[in-house]
Amino acid sequence: MNRIAHWIGGAERPGSSGRVGPVFNPATGEQTAEVDLASADEVAQAVAVAQEAARAWRSASLAKRSTVLFKFRELLAAQSGDLAAVITSEHGKVLSDAAGEVARGLENAEFATGIPHLMKGSFSEQAATGVDVYSIKQPLGVVAGITPFNFPAMVPLWMCTTAIAAGNAFVLKPSEKDPSAALFLARLWKDAGLPEGVFTVVNGDKEAVDAILTHPGIAAVSFVGSTPIAKYIYETGTAHGKRVQALGGAKNHMLVLPDAELDAAADAAVNAAYGSAGERCMAVSVVVAVGDIAGPLVDAIAARLPKLRIGDGTDPESQMGPLITAQHREKVAGYIARGAEEGATVVADGREAEVPGDGYFLGVTLLDNVKPDMDVYADEIFGPVLAVVRAETYAEGLALINDNEYGNGTAIFTRDGGAARQFQFDVDAGMVGVNVPIPVPVAYYSFGGWKASLFGDTHMYGPDGIHFFTRSKVVTSRWPDPGTSSVDLGFPTNR
Ligand code: NAD
Repeated sequence: MNRIAHWIGGAERPGSSGRVGPVFNPATGEQTAEVDLASADEVAQAVAVAQEAARAWRSASLAKRSTVLFKFRELLAAQSGDLAAVITSEHGKVLSDAAGEVARGLENAEFATGIPHLMKGSFSEQAATGVDVYSIKQPLGVVAGITPFNFPAMVPLWMCTTAIAAGNAFVLKPSEKDPSAALFLARLWKDAGLPEGVFTVVNGDKEAVDAILTHPGIAAVSFVGSTPIAKYIYETGTAHGKRVQALGGAKNHMLVLPDAELDAAADAAVNAAYGSAGERCMAVSVVVAVGDIAGPLVDAIAARLPKLRIGDGTDPESQMGPLITAQHREKVAGYIARGAEEGATVVADGREAEVPGDGYFLGVTLLDNVKPDMDVYADEIFGPVLAVVRAETYAEGLALINDNEYGNGTAIFTRDGGAARQFQFDVDAGMVGVNVPIPVPVAYYSFGGWKASLFGDTHMYGPDGIHFFTRSKVVTSRWPDPGTSSVDLGFPTNR
């Protein structure tokens, strides 16, 4: 059985805890590997190596760090097809989607190549007579990332590119369901010339996570995953004196106004609801259809569904792969049954799709006439299930979105610029699309939701990422004329 080890000190390190977890190919249901699950002691050993590396790395010049990032970016671009294949083999998403994930992660590496510019502070000459004041940004030391199964390369890249460019050592605890992408990135960092110990992978489950959250040598924790765990990470990490950003789950609404271009809205809803089998934190899981567009929109979405091809992600014909585990497949199927019991109209039932073999496949589901008090509306299902809620007015649709527990992404579909602008002003969500269903910001902005989709106040990557992985220092300096001397016990003023 293939064994997936840790990556410590610039090389693979087999685990010593005696605990392993199974890794499956979701398209076949076969176990393909065992992943080592780190003990608290192993996490401590990894952190000790990272601490030593961090001390040297913060002294590396900006030019040197930028050179490593450029090389890393080059290698990642050249090997993106191989990395996509690794992702598909453990996550199940189709190869083109895995390649898309790598491409978005690559953007973060490109952003981080500009680290000399991003680390600039500010300077005020003559704040008082002969006194200059300036600010500098410095790395935190050892920082950690804890990441979800659904983007095994992109989410680690959101974090590690910025953290490392800023001069930190980065310890990654990837999802134990698809850990191989993290090891792939580790090899790229090594080949790019990153000194040993600056990028570390500790594989594991709750035991490793708790060791990270309580280790005094880790200064900051960046987390992406489900809301209950995000809340736990935030509370535990901050209680142990760490800086924490914890991105949680989502229930993203797409508001379709009566004047929207019908085909574009239907295409967008299908792409955003069922891409990656709905296992995206920015997936559209609710369409709010306002007024008399509801009937035609449901028909237009339904008409597109029979043409979708579901199958093994390595087959170029497949548009949608399996779900991540057999248990998750059962959970999502249970929601379809629940929706029917609760009174939703089942326009398409994913349980009827037949894919040969033992993969964790589920077809696409469309539920119409969903009401806000139904579980299929309230819960994050994280599968290929799209709910349609019919609203009479824009105000009713907006209220639904703003009353929702989550506030990750949202989108409006309309031809009315004034309505779109009003929506952007009114809506309580961190990322907004105007006729764009999955508004994941480009790497030079930052990614993050509101409400139960984010614990902490800093968004991920881009300018917020630099802010998160650095701390500022302000220096007030005077170079007195030789021979001058005076004693003054008053509080320093600038007058
Ligand atoms: P998850 O919360 O189960 O796991 C995320 C990480 O936390 C993993 O590394 C896992 O090992 C660890 N973990 C799991 N249970 C733990 C526990 N009890 N104690 C400590 N650590 C624990 O999430 P997932 O199922 O891997 O990913 C899907 C979720 O992530 C969805 O809710 C999705 O919306 C969310 N997500 C959010 C974003 C975002 O940007 N907001 C992006 C991607 C995914």
